[in-house]
Amino acid sequence: MRAMVLEEQPGRLALRDLPVPEPGPGQVLMRVSTCGVCRTDLHIVDGELTKPGLPLVPGHQIVGTVEEFGPGTGAGDSGRRFAKGDRIGVPWLGWTDGHCHFCRQGRENLCENARFTGYDIDGGYAEYAVADERFCFPLPGEIDDEHVAPLLCAGMIGYRALTIAGDGERLGLYGFGSSAHILCQIAASEGRRVFAFTRPGDLDGQAFARSLGAEWAGGSDEQPPEPLDAAIVFAPVGSLMVDALKVSDRGARIVSAGIHMSDIPSFPYELLWEERSLHSVANLTRQDGTELLELAARHQVEPMVETMPLEDANTALDAIRSGASEGSTVLSV
Ligand SMILES: [Zn+2]
Ligand SMILES: [Zn+2]
Repeated sequence: MRAMVLEEQPGRLALRDLPVPEPGPGQVLMRVSTCGVCRTDLHIVDGELTKPGLPLVPGHQIVGTVEEFGPGTGAGDSGRRFAKGDRIGVPWLGWTDGHCHFCRQGRENLCENARFTGYDIDGGYAEYAVADERFCFPLPGEIDDEHVAPLLCAGMIGYRALTIAGDGERLGLYGFGSSAHILCQIAASEGRRVFAFTRPGDLDGQAFARSLGAEWAGGSDEQPPEPLDAAIVFAPVGSLMVDALKVSDRGARIVSAGIHMSDIPSFPYELLWEERSLHSVANLTRQDGTELLELAARHQVEPMVETMPLEDANTALDAIRSGASEGSTVLSV
């Protein structure tokens, strides 16, 4: 099968001809249709996340159809989750041990032994992939393969960040890329007031944010017309956490949605005073994923997608690195 493979860090992906993987215990084999490109893939390729299983097929927003079953699938009381030919989605959270301190509390996103798709387990930048059936999602029929792919990470982890941000009315989004442009649609549909912050001077990005329901859009160096009750920082830039605090109201929650971020500069305690808080978001639970897919279908969320052939994965990553990519990028396999 054709696959884009990372062989060393930092590196470029190389087109390779690999054997079709065999589904292991509890896994399904899927024929990949599309795979979303995430900033985390860029952090892996660039060596900012340091422990991938090399050589690695990246990609953790995989859409495809079930082809075969490994041993032990359907061992649970309810039988196999999927039938041959079913359309499924595979997210970042690929496996958990189910018994560590965090799993037992229902916080599987923090599992001490979790394995991640496109990092510990080969992902979807390939014609075929295997995945543990318990961590795959059935996909809503209303959304096609290209548009559903970005929901599997940009949407799901963004949604987890949104729930941690709480239900404050005035929500700031810092860094208006793949995740923010999905979250903006959901938050606006739910009656939140969205304030979008782009790179200073990115007037196109600001117009894009307003077209998706943001009440106000400006540069990250600008003061919004009102203080924020919550903010989610998608750009991997630590100083934005402090910028968000500076324009926040009492009790505001500032959430970093990324897996990697540059250092957060020190700041005076008075910025945090009055019960403001800083949070991070790690991974997702299966419950987050199910809720997000349901919300996206109900609100008819439509990611703006640029589709490229699998072989152009390096070009897609370069576009995220340079900030040229607006909306989401999806590889068509
Ligand atoms: Zn665990
Ligand atoms: Zn991701």
